[in-house]
Amino acid sequence: MSVITATSCARKDDARNFDYKVDAFADLEILRYQVPDFENLSLCQKTYIYYLSQAALCGRDILFDQNNAHNLKIRRTLEAVYEHYQGDRTSDEFKALEVYLKRVWFSNGIHHHYSMDKFVPAFSQAYFLEALSSIDTQKLPLSDGESLQSLTDEILPVMFDRQVDSCRVNLDSSKDVIATSANNYYQGATQSEVEAFYGAMKAKGGDRPVSFGLNSTLVKKDGKLTEDVWRIGGKYSAAIEQIVFWLEQAKTVAENDKQKEVIAKLVDYYTTGDLKTFDDYSIAWVEDSLSRVDFVNGFIETYGDPLGLKASWESVVNFKNMEATKRTDIISENAQWFEDHSPIDDRFRKERVRGVSAKVITVAMLGGDCYPATPIGINLPNSNWIRAEHGSKSVTIENITDAYDEAAKGNGFLEEFVYDKHDLELIRRFGSMTDNLHTDLHECLGHGSGKLLPGVDPDALKSYGATIEETRADLFGLYYMADPKMLELGLLPDKEAYKAQYYKYMMNGLMTQTVRINLGDDIQESHMRNRQLIAKWVMEKGADEKVVELRQKDGKTYLVVNDYEKLRTLFGQLLAEIQRVKSEGDFEGAKHLVETYAVKIDLDLHREIKARYEKLHIAPYKGFVNPRYELVRGKGGEIQDVKVFYDETFEQQMMRYSKEFSFL
Ligand code: ZN
Repeated sequence: MSVITATSCARKDDARNFDYKVDAFADLEILRYQVPDFENLSLCQKTYIYYLSQAALCGRDILFDQNNAHNLKIRRTLEAVYEHYQGDRTSDEFKALEVYLKRVWFSNGIHHHYSMDKFVPAFSQAYFLEALSSIDTQKLPLSDGESLQSLTDEILPVMFDRQVDSCRVNLDSSKDVIATSANNYYQGATQSEVEAFYGAMKAKGGDRPVSFGLNSTLVKKDGKLTEDVWRIGGKYSAAIEQIVFWLEQAKTVAENDKQKEVIAKLVDYYTTGDLKTFDDYSIAWVEDSLSRVDFVNGFIETYGDPLGLKASWESVVNFKNMEATKRTDIISENAQWFEDHSPIDDRFRKERVRGVSAKVITVAMLGGDCYPATPIGINLPNSNWIRAEHGSKSVTIENITDAYDEAAKGNGFLEEFVYDKHDLELIRRFGSMTDNLHTDLHECLGHGSGKLLPGVDPDALKSYGATIEETRADLFGLYYMADPKMLELGLLPDKEAYKAQYYKYMMNGLMTQTVRINLGDDIQESHMRNRQLIAKWVMEKGADEKVVELRQKDGKTYLVVNDYEKLRTLFGQLLAEIQRVKSEGDFEGAKHLVETYAVKIDLDLHREIKARYEKLHIAPYKGFVNPRYELVRGKGGEIQDVKVFYDETFEQQMMRYSKEFSFL
């Protein structure tokens, strides 16, 4: 275990002395990220980050409840056993319980964070009942008058029966995606009822519609649909009050008036639940591109809802990485050039790209749906009209990608899957660099490019919308990665560098990403679907000329790229088609592309990939523990410093959060 304070560490060149690996279990590995340069921030900025970090942890229970109605009860019951069980803690059954609890912590509930499928315990129901009855009932999460019997009646089927609540987000459009999804966003409503309910609102939404349904649970009571809004005095009030308390503290030490305005609007929104206020907040937030410290805190992303309406709670506290941001500044300054030259139909092009503000950030705290699994890039706000009129803010999270890269060194993955020495050498030289650049292009330019034709419903692609949008952003990055403009702008050092990204992307999309999927299952997650869509489409379209092929060597399958320039042309062609689908709201076109290329996996290849991967003993998914911050106070109680510690294990952090930040 390492205890490193801000004054003694946290420089990137100390990477070798930093312990990135924290824990590993099931298909997961827990890493630790550094917060370089935290010690060089002003006391005011550090204190601001401290308060925002507290706010970032207060919404954790909201997410558990959003993911499934029984999650909080299950987590607390498991935690009680974990903490108070007096029996044999070395038995296989207890160890299985420990792993299950860690998985619940990691996924913020009982469904796999990525596949969305429920995972079931490897200990028996009988063992669990015995353990439970050995514990003082006072320690169990029983509500007033509730018996152990009624607790187990509720949670046992949800935990142990595979058929109950089997999938958190079902994107299979041949079924009622609301009724078959186990999330807690809708109670008693069918898909067609939900669509009619919000369709009527959208019809009256005007040119600048709010994000209807974003911050509420839709409940059917006595045959009537009503929204239970997430706000102070409404649903999740106890947690939201705590979030607001810390935001108010943060406001007192904000860097400037703009930040104070942003926080005031956010607090107003949390207080009223008014989505128009949320739009006002989003506009103020996107306008603030100059502050060093920034944060996201709210109901933001809609991946957890098959219809993409309801947003999960998340938070990210961060500050600008000044050196690396020079790279994204160059991209932003040239945003119009990229838009003008993109290989799409002129009808779908933006005449004027507005305010693409991009930066590289250092994350200081992750919360809610960004923790422990976390994105490496973020582009917000999500509202289409705000993006069109006010632009968006786009970030690349470099201390997270650094942690991934450092932790992956020497794990044997590239040696196993890359075809030959030449490709391997390219990836070693340019892999990390082009990964970061691809994220920049995806976030700063890709999502912000193009436009919808007038009158097209932004949600016209329904459950295919997220995949098509991610495909678009990825293709934009891939297409430009190979452009001479990259060298001209000094973003890449070598005209061969882009090939590292092309190779890695295709290898991942055609082969290696499937290690994350159970044998025989389809791909569900939007980003994974988008990568396979791109890889399979270009391989099929370039098949006659063998642009890309899967080749056998020593009984193993490898990717071979024969013509990198043609590959770029194909990326451009697909980008044009995807942009058309998006701009026209062509649901059938989206459905065709996704169902044909993005969902099904070749079973034999899948089996081979998983077998090869297994031998390497690498966890397919990774997540992070946060650092721990402490205020240093003087004799009069005044804050003198904020110190950062990297000293918690995964279970220590999770148990602490469950004690200190549990309000529902
Ligand atoms: Zn994206």
